[in-house]
Amino acid sequence: MKVRDLIIIGAGPAGMSAGIYAARSALSPLIIESQMPGGQVALTDFIENYPAFPNGMSGQELTKLMEEQCNNFNVEFMNFVQVDFVEKENKIFKLKTNQGDFFAKTVIVATGASPAELGIPGEREFKGRGVSYCATCDGPLFKDKDILVVGGGDSAVQEAIYLTKFVSSLKIVHRRDKLRARKMLQEKAIKNPKIDILWNSNLLEIKGKDLVKRVVIYNNKTNQKREIRIDGVFMYAGFKPNSSLVKNLVEMDKLGSIITDHKMRTSTTGLFAAGDVRNTPLRQVVTAVSDGAIAAINAEEYLEYELKQ
Ligand SMILES: Cc1cc2nc3c(=O)[nH]c(=O)nc-3n(C[C@H](O)[C@H](O)[C@H](O)COP(=O)(O)OP(=O)(O)OC[C@H]3O[C@@H](n4cnc5c(N)ncnc54)[C@H](O)[C@@H]3O)c2cc1C
Repeated sequence: MKVRDLIIIGAGPAGMSAGIYAARSALSPLIIESQMPGGQVALTDFIENYPAFPNGMSGQELTKLMEEQCNNFNVEFMNFVQVDFVEKENKIFKLKTNQGDFFAKTVIVATGASPAELGIPGEREFKGRGVSYCATCDGPLFKDKDILVVGGGDSAVQEAIYLTKFVSSLKIVHRRDKLRARKMLQEKAIKNPKIDILWNSNLLEIKGKDLVKRVVIYNNKTNQKREIRIDGVFMYAGFKPNSSLVKNLVEMDKLGSIITDHKMRTSTTGLFAAGDVRNTPLRQVVTAVSDGAIAAINAEEYLEYELKQ
């Protein structure tokens, strides 16, 4: 049984940053990733708020640079391996994956978050047939179409602006009378002639045959329902932390975010969490990479001092 010093779960910004810091501390980290490195960033068309890139850059470019930096420090990646469950026995963590068990003295959970489903009729039925959670992946499929974007936060508004490159018209459905997105994004969206905002509105149902054809919108001020003809629906209505793999090991908040202290320590000694999966006040690349660095440095401290006691 090979027991590694450190395994990092997830190769998004938090996991890759943890990898760089851990490798520089000679911990020979292994990053296990269920897909390809990048996480949510790889699915983001443009990042303009990450320092040191004054002209912004695509999410894929940023991912490539982070991966390259990991490779320069010999961080080991294992892609397309899904960690299903983490257990701890006699100070050793066992990671159960779809490709066998892995063992480590310390683990950093950097599994990020996934878009939340609204749970409305038609959402699952039309997933991939007009319902999407990723503008960069599916935007070009909606050239000259009329689409709907659900949500009012940064992701919803930013991706709506991006989608106007392709579509003929776009409606943002937002349940309140004010967007939550940053002011700059709000202004861009409001000025965009292709964007129409449906205030105080909830998406109730998605209808169609093989593909999405119509949606039912409910106005929560007037209590009126109406049907709109639409070709596609992009969902940006919240997120769900990917924390189920440690649900029996750590304390979580009501949303399922892993609770950590300022050193990224969870309620289980030797288990750290970083990035969007934890109870962070800001879910962004810049905070994820900061968390990853802090987690790696404290994992090193744990191996050096606490574990030996
Ligand atoms: C549409 C959109 C636009 C955004 N725009 C911006 C922006 O402009 N600027 C900004 O700073 N931030 C932006 N963000 C937020 C930013 O992408 C996230 O805050 C950041 O990616 C979080 O990094 P992370 O490493 O914590 O998690 P993630 O990026 O979610 O990475 C987690 C990784 O873990 C992997 N994983 C999950 N579960 C498992 C498992 N069980 N086993 C193995 N691997 C697993 C996933 O495949 C993924 O690769 C945006 C997000 C979205 C969705």
